Amino acid sequence: MDFSLNEEQRAWQVKARKFAEEEIRPISLQRDQVADPRQTIDWEIIRKGSKLGFRTAAVPREWGGHGLDFVTQALVIAELARGDSAIAKTFSQCWKWSHLIADRCTSEQRERFLKPFLEDDMFLLGGGITEPNAGSDNRLPPGGDPRAGLRLRAERHGDEWILNGEKCFIANANVGKLFFAYTRTNANVTVGEGTTVFAVPIDTPGLRVGKVFDKSGWRFYQNAELIFEDARVPHANLVGGLNGGLKARTGKHSKFGELEYSANAVGVCDAAVEMAMQHGRTHKQGGKPIIEQQVIQLKLSAMHMLAEALRSFVMRVAAESDAKAAPRPAHNHFLMNFATDAIQRVCYLNMDIHGCTGGAMMNAAADKLVRDAIIWTHIAGDSVQRMKAVRSLLFSD
Ligand SMILES: Cc1cc2nc3c(=O)[nH]c(=O)nc-3n(C[C@H](O)[C@H](O)[C@H](O)COP(=O)(O)OP(=O)(O)OC[C@H]3O[C@@H](n4cnc5c(N)ncnc54)[C@H](O)[C@@H]3O)c2cc1C
Repeated sequence: MDFSLNEEQRAWQVKARKFAEEEIRPISLQRDQVADPRQTIDWEIIRKGSKLGFRTAAVPREWGGHGLDFVTQALVIAELARGDSAIAKTFSQCWKWSHLIADRCTSEQRERFLKPFLEDDMFLLGGGITEPNAGSDNRLPPGGDPRAGLRLRAERHGDEWILNGEKCFIANANVGKLFFAYTRTNANVTVGEGTTVFAVPIDTPGLRVGKVFDKSGWRFYQNAELIFEDARVPHANLVGGLNGGLKARTGKHSKFGELEYSANAVGVCDAAVEMAMQHGRTHKQGGKPIIEQQVIQLKLSAMHMLAEALRSFVMRVAAESDAKAAPRPAHNHFLMNFATDAIQRVCYLNMDIHGCTGGAMMNAAADKLVRDAIIWTHIAGDSVQRMKAVRSLLFSD
């Protein structure tokens, strides 16, 4: 497979690298240290990044966006994440839902949802699937049991739908302006058969933001509850067909998910390798830089190896997705699992090399990378994702 980049891909990569080095990295640790989780976001970095196209990068060109291909998306996310993983994710979260709009919305909906998003540098998108008692069950629904999975209820009243229930851990919930809410429109069938998606603006009557979660990692990234109390959503905002909900997670939207997390992990691994090399060269024990110790060299070698292997895997899946060669589903799932293993090992080794001051003390840069890397267990590398990977291998072709 040819991984050489064309001029446009290279230009986006260089632009993202410059932005990460000059704008993101200088504020990364400082934002991480803000105690109140509602105050960690920095709107100035969102505005600057938006002006450069990082918020709207995945909106197709014909609808006014930049229409980046998957290879370029992966390159840009990795570069931004090298500066700060959570800031990169705040931008790419908008790409995720841009893909859903492109894949599943009607042209009237596209016009209505994309116009304000494209015009407003502070317009962030999000999507609500998870609920207090429905996390993994939405991703790997247990066969045939209608009780499993999301419960946010939607009932039709004329031209409106009335939504009741709550979502939790929702990214951008307290800062975003438009959300895609996954609702149950038929409680007597499985979650796969009875789910409908609605586009819900944040100022919808009956919708409010609940608790903002205080996370150990990805502190810049906002996660909150969305509470629906007789929330009234127009029928015109139903996306992808009645009971078409989980099917809405197909097409580019679904291909992007695995790639997004894994490309972000590449950037974090790069940052950890760079940090470890720098520390190894400058920190002395026994009168010489610790990089001269064989044990440190072996650890650095393991870090490089994992970072490069992950980069190759990401580029391969991105290129396959662009070629519409439909990568075997197992590849995408295994990519997520491998990204989790790689980022956590690489960040752990970096923390180890930093010793007590840089690694075990709160708010040190190496400690932040470990806390950020833990997020992958919950979003990408838990047992359900691993089971999905194995099942897609067992049951494909
Ligand atoms: C930073 C972050 C951002 C997020 N953003 C969003 C968002 O924007 N929108 C959204 O909808 N959600 C979001 N989530 C939620 C995320 O999708 C859920 O955390 C995830 O689906 C797992 O659900 P849970 O945390 O409720 O764990 P649970 O489902 O309660 O699982 C707990 C443990 O049990 C295991 N387990 C559960 N069921 C099975 C099974 N059948 N077989 C084997 N093991 C099982 C899991 O692997 C896990 O180890 C976010 C989470 C995080 C951490």
